[in-house]
Amino acid sequence: MVVQAAKSRIVRLEGVSKAYEQPNGQAISIIDDINLELRSGEIVALLGPSGSGKSTLMRMIAGLIPPTQGQVIYHDRPLIGLNPGVAIVFQSFALYPWLTVLENVELGLKAKGENSDPRRQKALRMIDIIGLDGFENAYPKELSGGMRQRVGFARALAVEPELLCMDEPFSALDVLTAENLRFELLDLWIEHRIPTKAILIVTHSIEEAVILADRIIVLGRNPGRIRAELPVTLPHYRDRKSPSFQALVDQVYKILTNPEILAEAHQEPTTVSQPERSTPAKYQSLPQVRIGSIAGLLELLEDRQNKDLYRLAQELLLEVDDILPIVEGAKLMDFVKLAEGDISLTPIGQEFIGGSIDDRKLLVRAQLTAHIRLVQQICNILQAKRNHRIAEELILDILEKNFSPREAKRQLQTVIDWGRYAELYSYNEPAGEIFLEQVPDDNEVEVETPV
Ligand code: ADP
Ligand code: MG
Repeated sequence: MVVQAAKSRIVRLEGVSKAYEQPNGQAISIIDDINLELRSGEIVALLGPSGSGKSTLMRMIAGLIPPTQGQVIYHDRPLIGLNPGVAIVFQSFALYPWLTVLENVELGLKAKGENSDPRRQKALRMIDIIGLDGFENAYPKELSGGMRQRVGFARALAVEPELLCMDEPFSALDVLTAENLRFELLDLWIEHRIPTKAILIVTHSIEEAVILADRIIVLGRNPGRIRAELPVTLPHYRDRKSPSFQALVDQVYKILTNPEILAEAHQEPTTVSQPERSTPAKYQSLPQVRIGSIAGLLELLEDRQNKDLYRLAQELLLEVDDILPIVEGAKLMDFVKLAEGDISLTPIGQEFIGGSIDDRKLLVRAQLTAHIRLVQQICNILQAKRNHRIAEELILDILEKNFSPREAKRQLQTVIDWGRYAELYSYNEPAGEIFLEQVPDDNEVEVETPV
C-alpha cells in the first residue's frame, strides 16, 4: 500500500473560509474552516447536498475566487490568482457555439500561450484520445450532450493539467451516457494515458463518488464544513452490487442524511461518531418542500418493513438531493426519526397518517408553532399588529441577516406554503402581504346593534 505521507501534495487548503457580503452589509458564511489536501495519484470526490458550497470550494482551489480567510497552497506556495496546475470541466459543458470542436479544444492551450502548431497537434491528439475523432470541424450544436461533454473533457485535458477539477461533469447527461463517460475517464486514468496527477470531482451522487474516488470528502451545509473524510480502498473497477460497495454507500448515506452524525475528519476516517464539541446554534433553515411531499413520504413509511433510507430512495428513483429535503422537513415537524440511516414514523407521524385532512392540518399547525421558529415569529408579529398584516419585506429583512437574498426568498416561500397549509395565516401575493384571515377574538370589537 502506498503510504499517504509519501504521496506528493499538490494543493493544501489551510483554514479556508468563504463568506459573501449581502447588499445590507451582512456577511453570509458559505464555507467554513476547511483543511484539506489533494495529493498526487488520487481521485478525490467532494460530495454534499446542493448549496453546501462544493462549487465554491472547487473555484477557490482553481483560483477563480479567493478565500475570505485562510489560504490555498499550491506546491508549498500561497496561491495568488489562477491556479496554473488546474483545468476545469463544467456541468454545463461551457463550449463556445461559434467555434468548432477543434477550436474549442485549442482554447485552453491558446490561453497558456502555446504556438499554433504544437497547439493544434496537442488538441488533435486529445480529440483522438477522448473519442472525438472525425468531429474536429463540427460545431457544438451538431453534437449530442455526451459528445459535447467529451469536448469539455478534451479541452481540459489538452493542457495536461496536474489537477483535473470537474464540477458535476456527468449530471447533465442521460444515465447511460454518463456511465460510459465515467468509465472512459477511469480507463484513461488507470492506464496512465493522461499525464494528470490528481482528479477532484464535485458530485451530489453517492454512487458516483464511490465508483470513482479514492477518498470521499463529505460536505455539510449552512455553512459548508467537512463532515467526514472516507478512504475508498476497493479496487477498480468496482461492482455496484458487491456488499462492500453497498456498505460504503450506506455509510455515506447515513452521514449525509443525519446532520448529527459527524465523522471526525483526518483522525478515524471510517468511524462515524457523535461530535465532541457542539456546533454553535445557527438559524434554522427550512428545506424547500411542500407539505404534500412530506405527507407522501409518511404514507410510504406506513407498514413498511425495510426502513433503510437509501433503499427507499432507490425504490423511489430519487437522488439524495431530492429525498433529503423531504426527510428534513418531516424531521423538523417531528413526524419521523432517523437512526443510523433508518427512518421510521414517530407517534405524531402515525397520527398524521391516520388522520383526516382536517386532523392533518391541525397536527401540522401544532408542529409548526411548536418547532419552527420563523412560523412562531410570523404568528407573533401578526397577533401584535393592529391590522394583522405583515409586508413580506419585513420577513425577508429578518431572513437576510442569515441567508443570501436568493435563499431568503426560498425560506419565505416555504414558510408561506407551510403556514397556508396549516391555515395559520394567508398570503396575498400581488400585495406581498402575509395576513390573518380570522382576526383573533380578544381584538374583536363587540358592537351592540339596537333592535
Ligand atoms: P454547491 O455547488 O454545493 O451546490 P455552491 O458553492 O454553488 O454550492 O453555493 C453555496 C452557497 O453559496 C449557495 O447558497 C449559493 O447561493 C451561495 N453563493 C454562491 N456564489 C455566491 C455569490 N457569488 N454571492 C452570494 N452567494 C453565493
Ligand atoms: Mg455546484
